[in-house]
Amino acid sequence: MTEARTTLTFLHTGNPTGLKFFVEHGDSRCLFDFGREHAPGRALFSLGLRPRLGRELADLVAAGEAPAVEGVYAGEPWDGRTSVFISHMHLDHTALVRHLAPEAPLYYPAEMEPVRAGADSSGYLPWRRPVGTALADRETVTAGEIKVRLLAVDHDVPGSTGFLVSTPEAAIAFTGDCRRHGLHPELTAAFAQAVKGADLLIQEGVSLGYLPPIPAPPLLTEEEVIAELALAAAETKGLLVANCYGMNRERVAGLAAGCAAAGRKLLLEAEMAALAGWPGVLGDLEAVRADPRGHCLQLGFDSLPLLLDLQPPAGSVWIQCGGPPFGSFDPGSTVLEAWCARFGLELRTVNSSGHSRPGDIVRTVREVGPRVVLPVHTRAPEALVVVGVRSFLPQAGVTYRVADILSGAPTGSAPRGTHGRSGRSSPGSR
Ligand SMILES: [Zn+2]
Repeated sequence: MTEARTTLTFLHTGNPTGLKFFVEHGDSRCLFDFGREHAPGRALFSLGLRPRLGRELADLVAAGEAPAVEGVYAGEPWDGRTSVFISHMHLDHTALVRHLAPEAPLYYPAEMEPVRAGADSSGYLPWRRPVGTALADRETVTAGEIKVRLLAVDHDVPGSTGFLVSTPEAAIAFTGDCRRHGLHPELTAAFAQAVKGADLLIQEGVSLGYLPPIPAPPLLTEEEVIAELALAAAETKGLLVANCYGMNRERVAGLAAGCAAAGRKLLLEAEMAALAGWPGVLGDLEAVRADPRGHCLQLGFDSLPLLLDLQPPAGSVWIQCGGPPFGSFDPGSTVLEAWCARFGLELRTVNSSGHSRPGDIVRTVREVGPRVVLPVHTRAPEALVVVGVRSFLPQAGVTYRVADILSGAPTGSAPRGTHGRSGRSSPGSR
């Protein structure tokens, strides 16, 4: 019998999205998150191109948008040792869940369940059957010699969690996606306290190296976004369109309260309403056309042609507040601008990132005080510098012994149980 060791393998380092990784010890393996990179205009299946019906998974693997790993996908035998853990509902963390083997244990935070069920039942994101096990915050699951504890964090979707992964050899903390400028900063702070002194900290770093567009939209907290939306609901003279994302239930609830106070009826596209748990669904446009000042519509990019029917009056406003396109890197941005210009809509961005600001990332690392921090889910992992804490920038497709990462001499090897190809790693990922 060989000595059991703890290893860490990133299938995708999440540059900037699509993070997924294995922690293994002996015969046990835990997979954290299983989504697809969001890269419109760059990913092979983007800008309306979709995998072909009936061969979705094969197409995704061949295109490098799903990792080539054995023993976890439906249609082939489960390896009998891999358990899957989901940190939150966003598609870059969940979009491949539907393809998991039905036998693979699948765990997710219980507070995520309403959004998960809404996404599943509306067809927005079909989920695997069986759906898996919803776990309470702070609950611990044992997978062989690996223990995984859920520790809630604040993000822009309910039921987001980080994890503390304990093996006989090491304690590994993973932040999931988190922030400290949302409505519940105390959750992220409590996570940092709960994992204090972990050996490794796998830290999300989406905002590292982020260069804002010019002119830069204001840096808002979630509370400020909700106040801005309420103000727009009150002051907009024509139709108000808010392109928000239904998974951000708190923002939708805040917008709804602002609309109610301003005498506007809030109507959402059917899938977004299902994600948001909001009863007002956009149907017949006639009532909206007859009374634009009495309405606020959530419309996404694909609904832009509805403007042809709505003919919004002068003084109408389109607010980008969480729905794609997310910025100038998305070719959809200029198309959105063209539609708004054509129909005389004032286009505004009112948003608050779901991710920690750079200073808050450093604060979390300091509070946790790990022996080594691994910046992931970022374009610029090298931008994380915390005095007194060594950074290690993992590469996708390499299996590292955790003991080697801790000792400062990681060599790495090809991972066990892959088809010899790593998951897609974006240019510049390290
Ligand atoms: Zn997220």
